[in-house]
Amino acid sequence: MTTDGLPDLRREPHPNPTPDAERERILADPVFGTVFTDHMFQMTWTEGRGWHDAALKPYGPLTVSPAAAVLHYAQEIFEGLKAYRHEDGSIGLFRAEANAHRLNISATRMAMPHLPEEWFLASIRELLAVDGDWVPSQDEATLYLRPYMIASEAFLGVRPAKEYTYLLIASPAAAYFKGGPKPLTLWVSDEYNRAGPGGTGAAKAGGNYAASLLPQSEAIEHGCDQVIFLDAVEYKYVDELGGMNLFFVYENERVLYTPELGTILAGITRDAIITLATEAGWEVRESRYALDRWRTDAESGQLTEAFACGTAAVITPVGTVKGRDGAFTIGGGEAGKFTMQLRQTLLDLQYGRTEDDHGWITKV
Ligand SMILES: *Cc1c(COP(=O)(O)O)cnc(C)c1O
Repeated sequence: MTTDGLPDLRREPHPNPTPDAERERILADPVFGTVFTDHMFQMTWTEGRGWHDAALKPYGPLTVSPAAAVLHYAQEIFEGLKAYRHEDGSIGLFRAEANAHRLNISATRMAMPHLPEEWFLASIRELLAVDGDWVPSQDEATLYLRPYMIASEAFLGVRPAKEYTYLLIASPAAAYFKGGPKPLTLWVSDEYNRAGPGGTGAAKAGGNYAASLLPQSEAIEHGCDQVIFLDAVEYKYVDELGGMNLFFVYENERVLYTPELGTILAGITRDAIITLATEAGWEVRESRYALDRWRTDAESGQLTEAFACGTAAVITPVGTVKGRDGAFTIGGGEAGKFTMQLRQTLLDLQYGRTEDDHGWITKV
């Protein structure tokens, strides 16, 4: 992986970066998504010209026209991945090529230009070359990387924009759950859905999240942590959470179910879990999974565990599911053994503590 070839790359170091002692203080207990590193990466795409004016520069406000298309019609996509501090002090990324690839899948759906995958990786390398000290070293802490693309053309008509801006910012994050993951209580939304067939559910787009906020508030009002979205046609099959995929564990049969791709986001954590579980001798069935079945099998004890997964929270057990017609628990509402083992396996890979047999780690 090289940073060569980023068009017109200009490196503008921060004139007064965060002093070491201040950075160490922040890294000791970062609050997710509130503090950012000293620099950011920016690059522009213009119709007829392609990508140009790559810049690594001090983190700071953007200058955008009030007419910028993204502000009106939400033409925006993003990615989320983490930089991990390995025990030897080096920095590793986990399946960053998959994030680079997925950004372009999202771009296609949102009628946006592709970003060459090597430039996605080069932008991360550039940012970490100057802000690598911001990757924390405590257990389960990371530097969260947020690459994204916005329609920056000043234009109020409804058509794909002719100018886009790609940006990369980074925010240090502590362990998602202090003292280990606590089983989630989930709320089934029977009124709102996240994504219908032919919609944008498979794109990682800000608009999907905007639509999830009201149902998420409803989940909180019902004393739950997160909302579960059902399929938009029959409201019968489980899709996913607002930002996490789901798995259902049948320990006795050594079978894992996970909703099939289509309207859900193709999680990279989901994909890694399918690979790891298959290698461990489990059968993984990607298929529709009915809410009714979830309840019946949880109540009979045939379903032993359920968990949610995504880059931010890794793997998180699901303890309780609530809906308008009552609640049920899975595995007595406790974190399951398989879930916690799988979580550890994944973390050990991400932090470079076990052999990278899959070529999933990129050293930066
Ligand atoms: C990002 C995201 C996920 C998780 O994907 P990972 O690649 O595993 O982080 C799941 N669902 C939605 C809606 C997402 O946006």
